[in-house]
Amino acid sequence: MSITEGEVDDAIFAELHPPLPKQDAIVEANRCLFCFDAPCTQACPTHIDVPRFIKKITTGNLRGSALTILDSNILGASCSRVCPVEVLCEGACVMHRYNKKPIEIGLLQRHAMDHFYDAGAKLPVPALRPGLARVACIGGGPASLACAAELRMRGFDVTVFEAREWPGGLNTHGVAEYKLRAPDSLREVKFIESLGVEVKTGMRIGEIFQLEDLEREFGAIFIGSGLGPTEKMNIPGEDLHGVLDAVSYIGYYKLTRTGPIGRRVVVIGGGNTAIDAAIAAKMLGSGEVYMVYRRGEPEMPAFNFEYEHAKKMGINFLWQTAPVAIHGAENGYVKGLECVRTRMGEPDATGRSTPENAEGTNFQIPCDFVIVALGQSKLTKLLADKNIEFASGCVKTTGRSGQTTNPKYFAGGDCVSGGREVVDAVAEGKRAGVGIAKYLENRNG
Ligand code: SF4
Repeated sequence: MSITEGEVDDAIFAELHPPLPKQDAIVEANRCLFCFDAPCTQACPTHIDVPRFIKKITTGNLRGSALTILDSNILGASCSRVCPVEVLCEGACVMHRYNKKPIEIGLLQRHAMDHFYDAGAKLPVPALRPGLARVACIGGGPASLACAAELRMRGFDVTVFEAREWPGGLNTHGVAEYKLRAPDSLREVKFIESLGVEVKTGMRIGEIFQLEDLEREFGAIFIGSGLGPTEKMNIPGEDLHGVLDAVSYIGYYKLTRTGPIGRRVVVIGGGNTAIDAAIAAKMLGSGEVYMVYRRGEPEMPAFNFEYEHAKKMGINFLWQTAPVAIHGAENGYVKGLECVRTRMGEPDATGRSTPENAEGTNFQIPCDFVIVALGQSKLTKLLADKNIEFASGCVKTTGRSGQTTNPKYFAGGDCVSGGREVVDAVAEGKRAGVGIAKYLENRNG
């Protein structure tokens, strides 16, 4: 067994949904019925005015189309690539009622946004309004960026603090390359910076600065720090060489253009990130890739279209299987994963059954690489003494504005929801931006 370093091949990592050629975009836009009640708009968490931006494509007004999108969703470019449109806008399209293919809203949105970025992504920089308190946004992911942009457009002075070297959160580090490339995520951050938002990287709270420092300098603080590190499995062998968490694995190959490959790789988990990691391993050149999930196929949390894609890529699925130990060779590298079969226990009060390990069913999967994609832990420690309440490990907010039980703190994105789509984080960040603006304006007034 061996681990080698594979180079990301642009041809292999071709985008899953390549852009529409110009003529195709116009034809597709003209299929839209421009519905008055626009269920597609209602289904979008950021409520982009879909018929309006599509109408502008039909007349060749691509910049106007992009501005309509940006009005509701400042990360309209990345959302056009990563949104699960099949279950959001396109899933709601009235064309389904007529047994016709839904309008390709995601690709049309991308068409307009690509034009905007190719043309230099320029918007007038809003003037700073004097006398307003400054705002700090913790975390450089979609929620924080959306919050910061909303506030900056309203004349506030905003600084984003990102712990990592590169901003963009999961868009840069955690979303698979074939959906959203790191440079495309980073150019979106640059665009937000061009509006006058300051983005500071390498700023880890508790090390470089403390929350108390921010409280002194800023009138309000938005927490958009996402989730913490991937949860531990608490099984022997987790510290061996060749065990990686899925978000780090995806982020590594996206930013370095290389990635470790194994002859046989096992991914533990059944969510969309697990699938992204498995497909990445396969595309990088790993021989056999397995996904191990402790429940059955019907309970798998990944979207169906992600699952179908994984099957097409030749990923092998082991259902009702749980890891119990990772075994290492003498050199400290992984040589195999020990698993057991599971069976579903009695349903609890909510009707959900928990899988139980079936004794005596242990078996080994020889492998040289284990990727753990079991969800991320929540960041409760950071805010422990700030009078901020939590619910199930997530920051509790008191209304649509994202204000927490400490009025100076607002929050949105995965640290509130526990992990949802990028577009949900953008919607929450924008709403919090509106809420913070009102809070600070009222305080001033
Ligand atoms: Fe166009 Fe479909 Fe939206 Fe109607 S529901 S406006 S047809 S995209």
